[in-house]
Amino acid sequence: MSTRLYEHPIFLEHVTPAGHPERPDRVRAINVALGHPNFARLDRKEAPLASEEAVLLAHPEDHLRAVMRHIPEEDGEINQIEADTYASPKSLQAALTGVGAAMAAVDDVFTGQADNVFVAARPPGHHAEKTTAMGFCFFNNAAIAARHAQKRHGAERVAIVDWDVHHGNGTQDIFWDDRSVLFCSTHQMPLYPGTGAKDETGKHGTIVNAPLSPNVGSEQFREAFKSRVLPALSDFRPDLIIISAGFDAHHRDPLAQINLVGEDFDWATGRLLEIADKSASNRVVSLLEGGYDLEGLAESAGLHVLRLMKG
Ligand SMILES: [Zn+2]
Repeated sequence: MSTRLYEHPIFLEHVTPAGHPERPDRVRAINVALGHPNFARLDRKEAPLASEEAVLLAHPEDHLRAVMRHIPEEDGEINQIEADTYASPKSLQAALTGVGAAMAAVDDVFTGQADNVFVAARPPGHHAEKTTAMGFCFFNNAAIAARHAQKRHGAERVAIVDWDVHHGNGTQDIFWDDRSVLFCSTHQMPLYPGTGAKDETGKHGTIVNAPLSPNVGSEQFREAFKSRVLPALSDFRPDLIIISAGFDAHHRDPLAQINLVGEDFDWATGRLLEIADKSASNRVVSLLEGGYDLEGLAESAGLHVLRLMKG
């Protein structure tokens, strides 16, 4: 497989208050892990900046303006957008670069520049609803990427698989009544943000939630994947699979109580690649979401990317 990686120093310049789990060191830890000789074959590219208009693929203009109003001007200043979400002077540029990388990744897999792509960006995106920045997220990168695939490349069916330990409420909100996008999520329940029950299936049955009880591990995660996520994906026959790749279900993560190991992310990646091979000409775009223990994050992201490269 040819695997592309999007990275950019701006992802280190979105600053959150001291002690906040969503911090620049997360991307630093991934960059160090992917610097290992095992990843020498990765096709590394600098992430491009998206236009502000790109955000409108998944959000109304009011949302973009509201986020922009919260961006501080003075160096060192940090504004609180809501309970958990903060903006520093470079946050808008970082968020728009994450959006730009997600869209470029879609272009790459549809034009044959790469079989699959990993985007090591922050802030994350899957909690951002149509009109709400929340849970460390400004703009929903996965949703914007899906809309871009449809609009620019004529994708008819896009699947978004979200294995972040928190439910991707934002992605569910955006595609609730859209039969052209399948959203599958495994997540701990109960846990922030509180949505993601099994009976939340969307207007057309294209939302598949597979909640996991606290303190379960690999076996239950793989069983949820095998019994709920993979059959739904196979039936849907997506033209593109987008992964909301959060690594906070790792057993070391401080924000949740699921006990996955790095190999589970390797395994899940492998299963998604099999489906992408069958219906999507191998097209997989993976976007970093959560993951707050630096060691667990680096290990998990490394094994995920290695599997993308091996196929
Ligand atoms: Zn998360």
